Amino acid sequence: MAFNIIVLAKQVPDTRNVGKDAMKADGTVNRAALAAIFNPEDLNALEQALRIKEQFPGTKITMLTMGPGRAADILREGLFRGADDGVLLTDRAFAGADTLATSYALSMAAKKIGSYDIIISGRQAIDGDTAQVGPQIAEKLNIPQITYAEDIEKIENGKVRVKRRLEHGVEIVECPLPAVITVNGSAAPCRPRNAKLLQKYKHAKTITERQVEHIDYIDIYSSRPYLNLTEWSVADVNADPVQCGLSGSPTKVKKIENVVFQAKESKRLTDNDAEIDELMRELIENHTIG
Ligand SMILES: Cc1cc2nc3c(=O)[nH]c(=O)nc-3n(C[C@H](O)[C@H](O)[C@H](O)COP(=O)(O)OP(=O)(O)OC[C@H]3O[C@@H](n4cnc5c(N)ncnc54)[C@H](O)[C@@H]3O)c2cc1C
Repeated sequence: MAFNIIVLAKQVPDTRNVGKDAMKADGTVNRAALAAIFNPEDLNALEQALRIKEQFPGTKITMLTMGPGRAADILREGLFRGADDGVLLTDRAFAGADTLATSYALSMAAKKIGSYDIIISGRQAIDGDTAQVGPQIAEKLNIPQITYAEDIEKIENGKVRVKRRLEHGVEIVECPLPAVITVNGSAAPCRPRNAKLLQKYKHAKTITERQVEHIDYIDIYSSRPYLNLTEWSVADVNADPVQCGLSGSPTKVKKIENVVFQAKESKRLTDNDAEIDELMRELIENHTIG
């Protein structure tokens, strides 16, 4: 028994170092101004996929990411750790997408990939922080979903059993395949890069990267097809451009501000009701909660 697994991975701005030019005037992220990293929980998702591949030889892991050209780095990172293939969904028409438009585009790419038994994503991306994309993709593909996964325990008789980490404990659930599973940061960390795979895939490139970098040693790309990273546009995945990017996004990010708490702003509270009430009123007034 072998499985086809799609691992969703997002290239995210390193929000640990957000500067004042992090956002453009239209409320979208100024990605050029921020270091780009592999979304942390997507590494946990990749590790779960790699464990299934160890257990079921012949299993194929395809990395899938939607983003600008440099998001191909995410695909290479997945290959260096044990994935088998990578697809970059990139097109100006995808830019500025909210979760609805993002999940639509990714679901169209999953349909184009065709056979998938499990689609594994991180629970949440550290920039948008909505945790909506995984569940939305399951809806669009009309397949079951298991979220907040901490461990994919077993796959048997066409069903997957998963341990979920919830606020107040764990839960073991099961569902039929194909399914979408979103993985928590409390799951096992991802294994590091494998030196042999790094050697094997260091020249893996998308066609655009090869053109931009004037890489012409055509030979190795024809003799080693695994070095060709797939690159798909809106048209390649038969997506409706109106449902993509800003035009497909009902959510408009109105304003983003960088909230950095200064020590002087902290204050010590007792468990006195009046003080707690005062704190709650303050947090509601400054939109930190509610
Ligand atoms: C500060 C900020 C606030 C935002 N607020 C909202 C909002 O309130 N509502 C809204 O609809 N949009 C919002 N967006 C836009 C949103 O970030 C994008 O739509 C994004 O592509 C998906 O949402 P997310 O980052 O919340 O991902 P999440 O839903 O948190 O991501 C969950 C998982 O889905 C997968 N995934 C997500 N995006 C991709 C991708 N591009 N490629 C591959 N896999 C992916 C990853 O595995 C990820 O771990 C916001 C963006 C920013 C920067």
